[in-house]
This record gives sequence, C-alpha cells and structure tokens, in this order.
Amino acid sequence: MNHLQTFPAPSSNSFPCNECSAGMMHLRHITYFTWLGEELIMVPNFPAWICDMCGRREFDERAISWLTMILNPNAGKPTRQPKRTPRPGPAKRNLPRPPLD
Ligand SMILES: [Zn+2]
Repeated sequence: MNHLQTFPAPSSNSFPCNECSAGMMHLRHITYFTWLGEELIMVPNFPAWICDMCGRREFDERAISWLTMILNPNAGKPTRQPKRTPRPGPAKRNLPRPPLD
C-alpha cells in the first residue's frame, strides 16, 4: 500500500455517541473544508465520525493531526499537498530485471 497519500485508518467502524448516548457514530468520508490564511482548502474523502441520531460530527484525531501537519508550513519540511484524486497506481514491485547482455 502507498502510505504517502492516504489518511490514517481509524481502528473501528462505529462507536456509541457520547453526546446523545443513543446514537452510534459511523465513519463517513466527507469533504472537509478549512481555511489556511485566506485560502479555502478542500480535502475530499476526509474521514469523519457522524452520529446517526443527533448528527454530531467528530473528526478522526489522527487524520486531523495529519492534515494539520501537512497544511502547517511551520511544522517542518513541506510535504506533498493533498491531491484531489489520489493515484490508484499499483504498488511498487521488485520485478526481476532482464539480464544485461
Ligand atoms: Zn448522537
């Protein structure tokens, strides 16, 4: 798997909502909007936990910190910008090279 362009995967698919205690938080992939200075950043397929009862929305902690790290220019060396369409290319394989004559 290519880990450069993917979000950290949450560990489970649902958990009880701690807001209404009746609903379940389900993992959804939404388009996340955030402001970076005067620029509106759009992050498609961002993992979010949404309650099916009260509609409470929580974002995956690791995904948020991952995004913050990428968007924050002071967080170290600039990483790749999140692309709109991640390349579904095949993983690199160690193919045997043809012998040189
Ligand atoms: Zn709820």
